[in-house]
Amino acid sequence: MNKTATEGNDKATVAATDSTPSHFVRNIISEDLKRNKNDGRVHTRFPPEPNGYLHIGHAKSICLNFGLAAEFGGLCNLRFDDTNPSKEDVEYVESIKSDVRWLGFNWANREYYASDYFEQLYQFAVQLINAGKAYVCDLSADRIREYRGTLTEPGKDSPYRARSVEENLDLFQRMRAGEFPDGSRTLRARIDMASPNLNMRDPVMVRILHATHHRTGDKWCIYPTYDFAHGQSDSIEGITHSICTLEFEDHRPLYDWFLDQLKIHHPQQIEFARLNLTHTVLSKRKLLQLVQEGHVTGWNDPRMPTLAGIRRRGYTPESIRTFCERIGVAKRNSTVDIAMLDHCVREDLNRRAPRVMAVLRPLRVVITNYAEGQVEELEAVNNPEDPNMGTRKVPFSRVLYIEQEDFREEPPKGFFRLSSGREVRLRYAYIIKCVDVIKNPKTGEVTELRCTYDPDTKSGSAQSSRKVKATLHWVSAAHSIEAEVRLYDHLFTEENPDDVEEGADWLSNINPNSLETLTSCRVEPFLASAARGNLYQFERLGYFCVDSVDSSDRMLVFNRTVTLRDSWAKIERAQKKG
Ligand code: ATP
Ligand code: MG
Repeated sequence: MNKTATEGNDKATVAATDSTPSHFVRNIISEDLKRNKNDGRVHTRFPPEPNGYLHIGHAKSICLNFGLAAEFGGLCNLRFDDTNPSKEDVEYVESIKSDVRWLGFNWANREYYASDYFEQLYQFAVQLINAGKAYVCDLSADRIREYRGTLTEPGKDSPYRARSVEENLDLFQRMRAGEFPDGSRTLRARIDMASPNLNMRDPVMVRILHATHHRTGDKWCIYPTYDFAHGQSDSIEGITHSICTLEFEDHRPLYDWFLDQLKIHHPQQIEFARLNLTHTVLSKRKLLQLVQEGHVTGWNDPRMPTLAGIRRRGYTPESIRTFCERIGVAKRNSTVDIAMLDHCVREDLNRRAPRVMAVLRPLRVVITNYAEGQVEELEAVNNPEDPNMGTRKVPFSRVLYIEQEDFREEPPKGFFRLSSGREVRLRYAYIIKCVDVIKNPKTGEVTELRCTYDPDTKSGSAQSSRKVKATLHWVSAAHSIEAEVRLYDHLFTEENPDDVEEGADWLSNINPNSLETLTSCRVEPFLASAARGNLYQFERLGYFCVDSVDSSDRMLVFNRTVTLRDSWAKIERAQKKG
């Protein structure tokens, strides 16, 4: 039981079909190709910073970058934007690679690291110093901020702005040599302290940081900023379309400025709106906090919106890709209802998941007119959506379990399941009638039902057409297997976790009931062979997958991926209201 069933068995198909809605990024690339811009090349990149696990928002960017490259016969690089050693780690590099692969994308040998370009970036910096376009500044970070001005006030020139090229070259070389402490000096671009765009007010290009980098070790004690690394990395790799999220729109003039000053290949930066989802957070900083403070069990907790969590929860790569395609690509920020993600997952699992029977909260049922020791192997359909998935045998015997909530002593209006004197059908089996209710004399709790079955009503037989109002799932007590089942709800109670009372923070919106663990569940014997990662529909209950971490031969553990739509819950809600 240690093979992940959904691993590595599919290739991405995100290429546009006739039904794919087009979007502005695709249109830009189409136009560029018509004009033979970039000699007809399309080359994109996905540039994660290895400072956390990827989340569903990143999936949008991955699908877009890899998808567009595939669609236009181009290439997409995986580039780690690893310019901040204090927050980065190889654990994150490895998780990012496995997540991108799991989503179905392939970067061949095009795995790059901004840190591979540190020497080249150093040389670019020297080039800008020589051109009088960069200078070493001795202001502290706080002073730089003070000098920067505000949206309404221009900034002030740094007193070090007029340093000679020679002095700048000398100081910059000594910064590299490790002569100065962290934060004592920076290299800044000499642009315009009065620019209406704050990013253009002599931004920091290189900072001093004596930290060990996960790839370059202690070779460097100066590191480029995002702004000075990103565009040049794109350029070095021959990227044609540098697709990023809207918050970088204000950085584009700077992106262009560096490339223009350096006179090197100039990719086009295109911004799109990031994905936001209701009832969750999509920020690595916040996700890290959830992990570090123990609000979840780890980056791969099935409640997390990380790809590792989503995968463990049972979401399929196909459903994530479909979701990313359907949400579209826009220029304006918006929030997508998480129900839409669930919908895509349900749709995919409906097609592929074998149906089985499992009872989450068992209630014992004794069929008094069924011979003791008798067992019938009943035929059950594995997937009504896909006849190729065949059938299996389900054992039926005198003692069964049904779901506690499928019995009501005093059935409310509209409740058609089992109650005293009532008949229901057991799926693939017989019609049974409840003749007696056994209770715990102390608590009054119903502990067992005595029922009779009608031998003439076997599913599929001639007489079986007799109608009853409900069909219940069940398992045979002696043949079923014990399992643990974990039910999940939204991680945050509020649609927008940042909607808080004054003085409170987003953590106060954590849903205290996001996980319910049920032990002593009973599943049909067919599941004895279930491997980690396998997906099933538990009839009437939802889609479930075998947990890839905690499930073992000793104890099967299932995660509920997503519920089926529950019409009874709706009726009950409506009744409560009315
Ligand atoms: P976070 O906000 O979660 O910390 P980030 O932007 O800092 O994310 P990166 O590793 O830099 O994380 O992201 C890699 C790429 O994924 C970037 O191009 C970024 O724009 C994109 N990306 C990040 N979050 C989203 C999102 N919610 N929707 C779409 N794309 C995203
Ligand atoms: Mg980023």
